[in-house]
Amino acid sequence: MKTLFLNPPSFEGFDGGAGSRYQARREIRSFWYPTWLAQPAALVPESKLLDCPPHDIGVDECIEEARNYDHVIIHTSTPSLKNDCRVAETIKQQNPKTVIGFVGAHAAVLPRETLAASKAVDWAGGREFDYTCREVAQGRPLSETPGLSYRDGERLIQNPERKLIQNLDELPWVTDVYKRDLDITKYSIGYLKEPYVSFYTGRGCPARCTFCLWPQTIAGRKYRVRSPESVAAEMAHAQKIFPQAKEFFFDDDTFTANPPRAREVARLLKPMGITWSCNSRANVGYETLKTMKHGGLRLLLVGYESGNREILKNIKKGVTLEQAREFTRYCKELGIIVHGTFVLGLPVETKETIKETLEFAKELDVFSIQVSLAAPYPGTELYETAKQNGWLSKDYDTSIIDDGIQQCALEYPELSKEEIFESIERFYKQYYFRPRPIWRIIKTMLKDKDVFARRIREGYEFFNFMWRRKHHGTD
Ligand code: SF4
Repeated sequence: MKTLFLNPPSFEGFDGGAGSRYQARREIRSFWYPTWLAQPAALVPESKLLDCPPHDIGVDECIEEARNYDHVIIHTSTPSLKNDCRVAETIKQQNPKTVIGFVGAHAAVLPRETLAASKAVDWAGGREFDYTCREVAQGRPLSETPGLSYRDGERLIQNPERKLIQNLDELPWVTDVYKRDLDITKYSIGYLKEPYVSFYTGRGCPARCTFCLWPQTIAGRKYRVRSPESVAAEMAHAQKIFPQAKEFFFDDDTFTANPPRAREVARLLKPMGITWSCNSRANVGYETLKTMKHGGLRLLLVGYESGNREILKNIKKGVTLEQAREFTRYCKELGIIVHGTFVLGLPVETKETIKETLEFAKELDVFSIQVSLAAPYPGTELYETAKQNGWLSKDYDTSIIDDGIQQCALEYPELSKEEIFESIERFYKQYYFRPRPIWRIIKTMLKDKDVFARRIREGYEFFNFMWRRKHHGTD
């Protein structure tokens, strides 16, 4: 079947696509690459990847494009499911013969609910869905394809799970799909140089963080990796076909989870002279960081999450405050920029623990931060614990995001969801409205006129977003 891989239009600026861990609109316009759709697209000849939100493709244009395909695979998420069903229904109305599959964490964890959400959905993909997509596209009957659930009359049938792929080198590169179907100038993340291009060099994470979506739903607890040689070869190809890319990002859950392999990749990248960044835990040793830096590493995206020991224990972070301090010191010594991420509303947050996290963030004083609300997605341990303890807010089903803006879906005996929601803005203000971060940002602006213009735009977007977030639903 001629297959369209679709990240449909959604809320304005919604970055919930097939690559995003944080499924909501962000403070500044940001889009991750739809890598989880690009990968199966690379396996299916003559397919197309249509990533609507970054390319500003509206519903009408998207539906018109779908007319040319027999099979449409939509990447869905918990917050966007309803909207994605509406898109699927419109495609089905246009051509009732179109076969429609839904993939992504929500479909993998709740296949019955996903199929029940709309009659337009013919199949729901399981955990790692690359080969499932290919086999359905090749015409294999749904009843014989492992790793999916489907509808048989009124019955919903769940086929056996598919094993996770152990040899990731067997998958084709995504680079040519990006080149064919995406405009890389549409992808931007505040802390990365632009344009950037992102890849997965491995899947899964051995850490056990209870709130983290991908390893618990799609990618698993083992870090399965591509060989360093394969990564280096694809990067060389990417350098050639994307000469305008200023930075490459390795979006593996935790690129540093296998230090010898991270060092080997860095060694192979060094002669290429490329600038790259990646996700990391706050527990990497000095020598590994040094080798990565020498290999072209510019920035690490690091999940510190909280400054409270008890919360770190509750969420099974597996990194202590002391380790995080030492790691951050190493990065500063080596000139590696850190974008630190924090989460408010994890169990069991109080006003006091929020203050502790803010003080911890100020003490670390990394280049930039992101503060998110804890998002208890189905399939995560956080969701189950919250359900058992009565922490899910009463309007959980409708409140995980509103109009694309992340809402607080957890509440505790000593802290209401409204208080957690409001604390995000305070956190940002108290972190950034200090001389050091302000001066750091000004310095980068003075060095480069493009960065100057970009920061002005992002500053406007940030304050605009905060205003909308605060006043949302009041007009
Ligand atoms: S270390 Fe990061 S990627 Fe791994 S489980 Fe924890 S939050 Fe998720």
